[in-house]
Amino acid sequence: MDFRDVVATKRDGREISSDQLRAFVLGYARGEVPDYLAAAFLMAAYLNGLTPTETAELTRAMVDSGRTLPLAGVSLPKVDKHSTGGVSDGVTLVFAPLAASFGMAVAKLSGRGLGHTGGTLDKLESIPGFRVDLSPEELEHQVEKVGCAVAGQSKDLVPADGALYALRDATATVASVPLIAASVMSKKLAIGTDLILLDVKAGSGAFMKTPEAASQLAGACVELARYWGRAARAAVTDMSQPLGSAIGNALEVAESVRLLRGEEKGRLRELSVAFAAEALVALRGTDRDDARSMVAEALDSGDAADTFAAMVEAQGGDPRVVDDPWAVLPRASVKREVPSPDGYLKEVDAESLGRAAAALGAGRMKKGDAIDPAVGIEFFPKVGDKLEDGQPMALIHARDEGAAATVEDQVRRSITISPKPVEAPHLLYGWHWTAEGEAARSDRGRGAAG
Ligand code: URA
Repeated sequence: MDFRDVVATKRDGREISSDQLRAFVLGYARGEVPDYLAAAFLMAAYLNGLTPTETAELTRAMVDSGRTLPLAGVSLPKVDKHSTGGVSDGVTLVFAPLAASFGMAVAKLSGRGLGHTGGTLDKLESIPGFRVDLSPEELEHQVEKVGCAVAGQSKDLVPADGALYALRDATATVASVPLIAASVMSKKLAIGTDLILLDVKAGSGAFMKTPEAASQLAGACVELARYWGRAARAAVTDMSQPLGSAIGNALEVAESVRLLRGEEKGRLRELSVAFAAEALVALRGTDRDDARSMVAEALDSGDAADTFAAMVEAQGGDPRVVDDPWAVLPRASVKREVPSPDGYLKEVDAESLGRAAAALGAGRMKKGDAIDPAVGIEFFPKVGDKLEDGQPMALIHARDEGAAATVEDQVRRSITISPKPVEAPHLLYGWHWTAEGEAARSDRGRGAAG
């Protein structure tokens, strides 16, 4: 086969045959299709889009490029949850033990932070001793025993996505609905869970900048799940500001622990509750309002915190992180307060705050960069809040005064203030799902749960 035909077909806006697309993707994963042809294909797909059939075939070829993880040895109802990426998005750290504390099995393969977005593996590795390199057998065993495990994705699971994602990152072809949908769903479909929950982010800190674009992506992901006969629910959620207040690895673990101990309210808790409740609704048939109350109660009672401690211990980490996080987690030596201006917080550039934290050392600009688990930014207000002149708006945790001073300016420039009151944005715009066969249940409340 002449692989140039695939590129030419998409370049001309025509549909690529399933056989050709499959051969191209598997050929790329095996190193038979050169990067320049794959890059040309990606740009053609980015510009001309992919049909639903092409998107499904791309996804299928990516799944078939490697091994799968059926999780056949896990007897509990299995749920996977995935976020398309954001800033201060610690939902997985709260969701996994929370859902597990209700007898659901959470087998989570997570990623590392890249660019302005944080990564769950980096966050967990800030707990001394925590291991993310679990073998498939270890992962399965731990899920059955503890109820949850969070590990890194092995290289032989969906290798075509690993290769194509790196190429997309290098060729400005990431932000395409069919390409993201195929990438996300190939990784979810390769794992044998009973329910796939997706958190599709919209706003300044997300790939999709508007709820409408995020809704399109959520719909495309759910369509793929439907095609595979898998149950999936995808929420479109707000990323127009950091979800929690901590941006940085140890800081985000400490914030998650406070949430798991019922000590902190706010949007990160609300969204974690919404996802755990949705899992109970889908897998156990629990009434939605009851599910939300039960899940909130598990946070307030400390049950979910106990499960988190068990997960940390099972993965070699120090479980004291739950009782006394700062006795265990690394701390930055310099702390610098950023005072507020006067007025209502109108907008936050979440991406800019994420980049500021990465510049301190909390994130990496390219794969393989080292990170500093201790540094980051705590950004306290939310859009709509009235700020009082001089009150602390943010706290920078840095290695040295020079780094703190450089980032302070960026934090100040990340916000827009209004003299007039501003409405808080929605947290959860709505759901798309497969289980009942119909897309989109509107859930346009300001908060998803209490
Ligand atoms: N997350 C993924 O796994 N893939 C994408 O393409 C974008 C976000």
